[in-house]
Amino acid sequence: MKILVINCGSSSLKFQLIDSESEAVLGKGLCERIGIDGSVISFTPAGGDKIVKEEPMPDHNKAIALVIEALTDPATGVVKELSEIDAVGHRIVHGGEAFTKSVIIDDQVIRAIEEVSDLAPLHNPANLIGVRACEKAMPGVPMVAVFDTAFHQTMPEEAYLYGLPYRYYEQYKVRRYGFHGTSHAYVSARAAEIIGKPYDSLKTIVCHLGNGASVSAVKNGRCIDTSMGLTPLEGLIMGTRSGDIDPSVIDYISGKEHKDLKGVMTVLNKESGVYGLSGDISSDFRDLEAGYNKKDPGAIRAIHCFAYHVTKYVGAYAAAMNGVDCICFTAGVGENSPLVRKYVVERLGYLGAKLDEAANESRGKEVTISTPDSAVRIMVVPTNEELAIARDTAALVK
Ligand code: AMP
Repeated sequence: MKILVINCGSSSLKFQLIDSESEAVLGKGLCERIGIDGSVISFTPAGGDKIVKEEPMPDHNKAIALVIEALTDPATGVVKELSEIDAVGHRIVHGGEAFTKSVIIDDQVIRAIEEVSDLAPLHNPANLIGVRACEKAMPGVPMVAVFDTAFHQTMPEEAYLYGLPYRYYEQYKVRRYGFHGTSHAYVSARAAEIIGKPYDSLKTIVCHLGNGASVSAVKNGRCIDTSMGLTPLEGLIMGTRSGDIDPSVIDYISGKEHKDLKGVMTVLNKESGVYGLSGDISSDFRDLEAGYNKKDPGAIRAIHCFAYHVTKYVGAYAAAMNGVDCICFTAGVGENSPLVRKYVVERLGYLGAKLDEAANESRGKEVTISTPDSAVRIMVVPTNEELAIARDTAALVK
């Protein structure tokens, strides 16, 4: 089956066409600046060169039309007819408590996604715009919703409840949901495959370290805890997000800097994390590592703080699972930063973890970075959220 995977944001749309049998990417691309002047679509057919076109995209319907045009272009496209696309898999950020797994999209599913949209007001409405635009352009083609939150729905109450009045949970569903679920699920399952042990027999900690970052504890194939919360702001220090702080900081800074609540939340989401800690050098670890190598104190500080917080979560989740068999690093930083991985693993001696320094130098590849006598297997497992979405979509529409 040929599965079109769509990840639709408010002004951007990423797409991949995947052959579900061979799991090959037939083509992929990105629409940027939808609804803004200077819209651009880029498309790369498998084995071909990237094609970049500036085209007005006043809305997502036009963006989807251009995606279809790119996929079916007689010269550079990857399918002859639109009818060759068997199904569409959509990334949906928040499924609330309503969705514990991927589902075929129908009117009832759309209503349920709308109902949880106030939990992700920036993301879910944008995701649904993508669903509607595809429905219009490809009537009758089955669509599947794959939720970032679904994998974490197996968390027990003790892990997902906050120490708040219980009625906030009952009335408003205030709780930990967790995100990057597709990645945590894919990586933990792939790790079991690599190790050659049943998924449901392992205790795995997945460190998804990208611009957004989260850690999860996966025990016997089920997520039992994760670091992001009601929103992706909680947990690790991230590119520009603060991660965990004392909530009183909000009130304190609001007074000191004469900012309203929205203003402080903008700081926590967009001006904090390694970007803020570094003294505004960059949120990108490539820049921070360059600064680190030049002994820039801001870059050193940001990298140390980031890695320290990952180490703390690994320790917490080893405790939560009463042990750990396998620790996986994934996403942009996890796959490409030997420095961050080294700082995390060198503090895990109490778990019997031993780093293979030479193997740790590898970037972007599946590799074991622990020594053969390490008590914990430590691996780099590149994530592939698009493939995970295509797999779920193919399984549901078959
Ligand atoms: P992601 O959100 O998973 O796409 O990760 C994006 C982040 O990964 C970037 O902002 C960088 O901080 C980091 N990254 C990507 N490539 C590298 C690299 N070669 N070395 C260090 N960090 C990298």
